[in-house]
Amino acid sequence: MFFEGLVIQRVPYKERDLIVKLVLRSGYLGSFYVYGGQGGGKSSKPSLYQLGSLMKVLTKELRIKTNEQGELMAVAESQKIWEPEFIRHDIKAFYLSCLYAELAQRSTLPYHREQSSEEHAGLFSALSNALFYLDSSLKKKEFEPAPHLMLYLTKLLFHLGIMPEVDSCSFCGAGLMEAQDVHFMPEEGHFSCSDCHHGARDKGFLLRLKKSYQTKFQDYKELPGATLMESDKLIQFFCHHFHLKTVELKSYSLLFQ
Ligand SMILES: [Zn+2]
Repeated sequence: MFFEGLVIQRVPYKERDLIVKLVLRSGYLGSFYVYGGQGGGKSSKPSLYQLGSLMKVLTKELRIKTNEQGELMAVAESQKIWEPEFIRHDIKAFYLSCLYAELAQRSTLPYHREQSSEEHAGLFSALSNALFYLDSSLKKKEFEPAPHLMLYLTKLLFHLGIMPEVDSCSFCGAGLMEAQDVHFMPEEGHFSCSDCHHGARDKGFLLRLKKSYQTKFQDYKELPGATLMESDKLIQFFCHHFHLKTVELKSYSLLFQ
């Protein structure tokens, strides 16, 4: 079978082999065993499998093993379709791509061959666009981490079906745009109005969240004022939803130190 997907994890195994995880075009997470995947050998060829690369693989019929984590499929042939050129040379961008990979890994479902649904395909397009335009912003020398992270998180939450409600207060139902100010509750992923929560001051965040939802990845410059602190509110919500602590995301502390 042929699969196409983005590399979000690569673990060296034995002397020269690799176990890789790919977010497939269907939005599921595929696990693959690649003989000789670390590269090297007599001709010292580099590994095709780099974080963020888009790969096309042909699997062998034989299944290596199946468990609740999904199948581990042996790769017969690999072809690299695309890889980021600039991300690995910029430390902030590299950490950002690692965080994208970790968030994707925590929220995608393992692939099983009995599944053929395409309902999660949006998760693949969110990740592939995020990586492509991250790389392209570095090429154009206009990379700023905050708008990229905000856009990815918004699209990720939307495709996971857990985008926060941005129109009305979760307590009294009043319109949030009419409220004097609003407060975001990361434990719930809801907003409340300033009548229901004193000390509210998240209106700027609400406006940028709504704007981010409507903004395409290639228009990352149209999100002025976005900050990593605002994205952090969405990460806190993501972690609550998936019963994670932020310390479990290795790249989080690197970005938010
Ligand atoms: Zn209210």
